[in-house]
This record gives sequence, structure tokens and C-alpha cells, in this order.
Amino acid sequence: MELYSGHINKLIEELAGLPGIGNKSAQRLAFHLINMPKDRVDRLATTMMEAKANVRYCKECFTLTDQEVCPVCANLGRDHKTIMVVENARDLAAYEKTGKYTGVYHVLHGAISPMLGVGPHDIKLKELMQRLQEEVSEVIIATNSSLEGETTAMYISKLIKPTGIKVTRIASGVPVGGDLEYIDEVTLLRALEGRTEL
Ligand code: ZN
Repeated sequence: MELYSGHINKLIEELAGLPGIGNKSAQRLAFHLINMPKDRVDRLATTMMEAKANVRYCKECFTLTDQEVCPVCANLGRDHKTIMVVENARDLAAYEKTGKYTGVYHVLHGAISPMLGVGPHDIKLKELMQRLQEEVSEVIIATNSSLEGETTAMYISKLIKPTGIKVTRIASGVPVGGDLEYIDEVTLLRALEGRTEL
């Protein structure tokens, strides 16, 4: 016997497919949505569709943006010869929040994970190597200190070494397995300042 109507079940199923949302949360959200005024539901649905339709990758650093080139890459006052490599756009936002980093970024959109079947070709690594054809003085690897983040850092440093470009890794004052976005700004800055050459 179905506990809820088909539409509610479908909604719960869709919500449960989102990261960090278990079955219980999905049920709670579904009932919340059903009880919301129609105009708010319309607004939420439209916002999601508009974001999906208009947000794209910056053609230089691959972060998410509304424009062809993101505000950081478009800013000529930034040091375009220093590239910080991060796993995702949230990590970029975390470093931007410190307001102290003046270089540009490269967003990988993931990390190498043999266990999850994510290889070098599944992240924006080829694109990073292409960027290094231009004049670059330093690549700062700021992937997370998780196993995947460290694996990715090692892989990238081996790739870049032969080019002679300086490669550094942020200090591991960042707790092991810690997601960059949850770390406070002071710790982030300390990690950046304490970076070591690989
Ligand atoms: Zn960009």
C-alpha cells in the first residue's frame, strides 16, 4: 500500500536524491513545500530553472558565473600569474571571503578518487594545463586535505613539475579531511601563507 499520493512520493523521491538529504528530511521538505503558498512555490521553481539556464562555467577558471568570464578573472587588478587550484566553487568563495588573496583561481570540480572511480580526466585538469601555456609564475594547490585532495595535489604537482613553474601546497594546518568551506578565514589565511614548495 502506498502511504502517500503518487505526486508526494515522486516529490520525496526527487528531494531524497539531493546531497545531504536523507529520506526523513525529504519527507519533511515535501510536506513543507505542499503547505507553502502557491506563489512561493512558483518563485522557488522559477529561481531554480533560471539559475540552471543562466549559470555557466567561467571560460578561464571554470567557476560558476552568470557571465562568460567571472568577476575575479575579469579583474585586471588581480595577479593573473598566480593560480590557486581548488576543488569546487565553494572553496573559491571561502578564499574570496578572506579578502586577502590577490591571484586568480582554477576550479577542478572534484578530486581524483580511485575509490569513487573519478580519474584525472573527470576533473578540469586538462584545462588547467592549457592555462599554463600562458605566463604563470606560481600554482598554489589548495585542494582539501582529504585522501582525494592529497592524491589530486600529488598528481597535479607531478604534471606541472616538468614545466618549471613553481608549485606550492597550502599548509596542512587545515584539519585532515576538513572541507575548506567549513574552515574559518584565519585558518585559511595561515594555510595560504604557510604554503610550501612541492
Ligand atoms: Zn573565472
